[in-house]
Amino acid sequence: MTTPTPSPTATSEPAPGATVFVGLGANLGDARATLRDALTALRALAAPGSFAASSLYASAPVDSSGPDYVNAVARLRTALAPHALLDALQAIEQRFGRERPYRNAPRTLDLDVLLFGVEGDRGGLALADERLVLPHPRAARRGFVLAPLAELWPLGEIPGAGRVADLLADARRDPAQRVERVAA
Ligand code: AMP
Repeated sequence: MTTPTPSPTATSEPAPGATVFVGLGANLGDARATLRDALTALRALAAPGSFAASSLYASAPVDSSGPDYVNAVARLRTALAPHALLDALQAIEQRFGRERPYRNAPRTLDLDVLLFGVEGDRGGLALADERLVLPHPRAARRGFVLAPLAELWPLGEIPGAGRVADLLADARRDPAQRVERVAA
């Protein structure tokens, strides 16, 4: 009698960990080059095959000053826990020479955890402590987050806020929130 051999799994299992969206923004120096380098740094945090990056967008500063921002969003799967991911993002910001002279100052590079633990079109963990608020409180209101997020997650829904496509349509009605795609 032969022992049945398990059939090879045809479907590829997702890497362990959580799917997250990270928002990127920069408005000092060569902001496009900074964002491209930061996307490369984020890719290094991602489980193999799990990384995706949006196009780059230009946006008028909101609650901030200086030249236009360049923004993007990345999706990745990570084995890091939420606060460890924040640590990793802050370490990347430091590498890019971010200074925090005052709140909402122009910055070399800003990295935010937008959503953590996304499953399909549903957007993950709700959490609020002194270091981390999830979903990111500004994600649902800012065109510069929603436009690149919609590119990667067109049917997505931010818990407690609504569908990304609807939120983006609202943001686009706000004349103060100019945001345009500038590079693939
Ligand atoms: P910012 O100046 O916008 O980069 O804000 C950075 C601060 O926001 C840090 O002290 C973080 O601890 C805090 N923070 C709270 N929630 C988040 C989040 N979802 N992603 C990134 N930073 C966050």
